[in-house]
Amino acid sequence: ARPRKLSVRLHPYGEGRLLLLARDVTAVEQAEVMRRDFVANVSHEIRTPLTVLAGFVETLQTLELPADERGRYLQMMAQQAQRMQTLVADLLTLSRLEGSPLPGAGEWTALAPLLGQCEQEARSVALALGKTLDLHFEPAPGARIGGVASELLSAFSNLVSNAVRYTPDGGSVTVGARVLPGGRLEFTVRDTGPGIAAEHIPRLTERFYRVDRSRSRETGGTGLGLAIVKHVVQRHGGELRIESRPGAGSTFAIELPAARVRTEPAAALQG
Ligand code: ADP
Repeated sequence: ARPRKLSVRLHPYGEGRLLLLARDVTAVEQAEVMRRDFVANVSHEIRTPLTVLAGFVETLQTLELPADERGRYLQMMAQQAQRMQTLVADLLTLSRLEGSPLPGAGEWTALAPLLGQCEQEARSVALALGKTLDLHFEPAPGARIGGVASELLSAFSNLVSNAVRYTPDGGSVTVGARVLPGGRLEFTVRDTGPGIAAEHIPRLTERFYRVDRSRSRETGGTGLGLAIVKHVVQRHGGELRIESRPGAGSTFAIELPAARVRTEPAAALQG
């Protein structure tokens, strides 16, 4: 067992007696350490692009540069600004998820158009990174899911865009959704990327945990994607599974409970 941390106080208690009060503060301390780590991580993530931006501003102010070089600098500045925007957007998403109550299954959304959006996004991420990938999408026909559509879309598309980002040129990404016999829905993203060593897998959903920091940054990662996915999936009563081995690619799967899944009868699909 891990050592516990106790906070102990002594109080005078009647004639010649003392009362000893001991409180277990292990959890409080752990939460404080996590909070401090988080603030340090956020500060670091913001400082890096800011340093680069400030450097470019100074260069542009002090040097007379030819137009094309100036253009290149401005382009790199725009990239750093974009990076900070993405980071702030992800941070806001996380804090919104943490603060809001569990969604009811009142809102039902067809799965196929959500997957269509994921596919479009995947293609544009691949294009932006200059990669040619074999992309397959196999949606479950007629499936509807209950919950917050925008959150579920962001969970699905985070997994898909990770697969695209980490799979090298020429590889393949297969996205599938199917309703399992018991009525649960399984959404899977399989890639032929580098794979992930076992010791990293349990930590991937921690905020800012990355196996390879520079690889993540190069492809526009904030280190928050899987933390967002985990939150969304948990809020919807589902489960995130990760299967991966170095050199053998990765499979990320989201399972949603039957209560959040409906299938339209085939006749209704025609309309
Ligand atoms: P990031 O923005 O860094 O991608 P994520 O939270 O989405 O942050 O993922 C955390 C880490 O998990 C990544 O930095 C990467 O090391 C690893 N990872 C995620 N998806 C994959 C994948 N499909 N293949 C290999 N590694 C992955």
